[in-house]
Amino acid sequence: MPYAYDDQNIFAKILRGEIPNKTVVETEHSLAFHDIAPQAPDHILVIPKGAYVCYDHFALEASDAEILDYTRLIGKICADLGVQPGEGGDGFRLIANAGPHGVQEVPHLHVHILAGRVLGPMLTRLR
Ligand code: AMP
Repeated sequence: MPYAYDDQNIFAKILRGEIPNKTVVETEHSLAFHDIAPQAPDHILVIPKGAYVCYDHFALEASDAEILDYTRLIGKICADLGVQPGEGGDGFRLIANAGPHGVQEVPHLHVHILAGRVLGPMLTRLR
């Protein structure tokens, strides 16, 4: 079944300028802004401007130009934060939640870039 995009989600409203955001950087196809409830000293959300619900939707259906813009922007933000391990930075974590098992709250693709502290185990271990 194809994805149905809900254009009333909060990130769609941010893209339309209906609610404010703390923009980090904007490109032709993408927008990066600070998470409203940061979980680390650096917590940036990166979204495509196109109507994509989650990562697989974007990866399979976005244009090459959108994918290039989005992927390079994530890399640029990591570089600008100074967190690239290959450049002496302390590292970071990328998270892209999808659907109910991924506990995705906002149904517009977003990657979380988290950095600035040790982030702990990737997942809570179930006993
Ligand atoms: P997820 O669970 O992956 O869908 O994460 C949604 C993220 O969006 C959470 O980390 C929220 O804190 C963040 N968020 C929700 N509303 C806003 C907003 N208006 N501006 C910035 N971040 C937001």
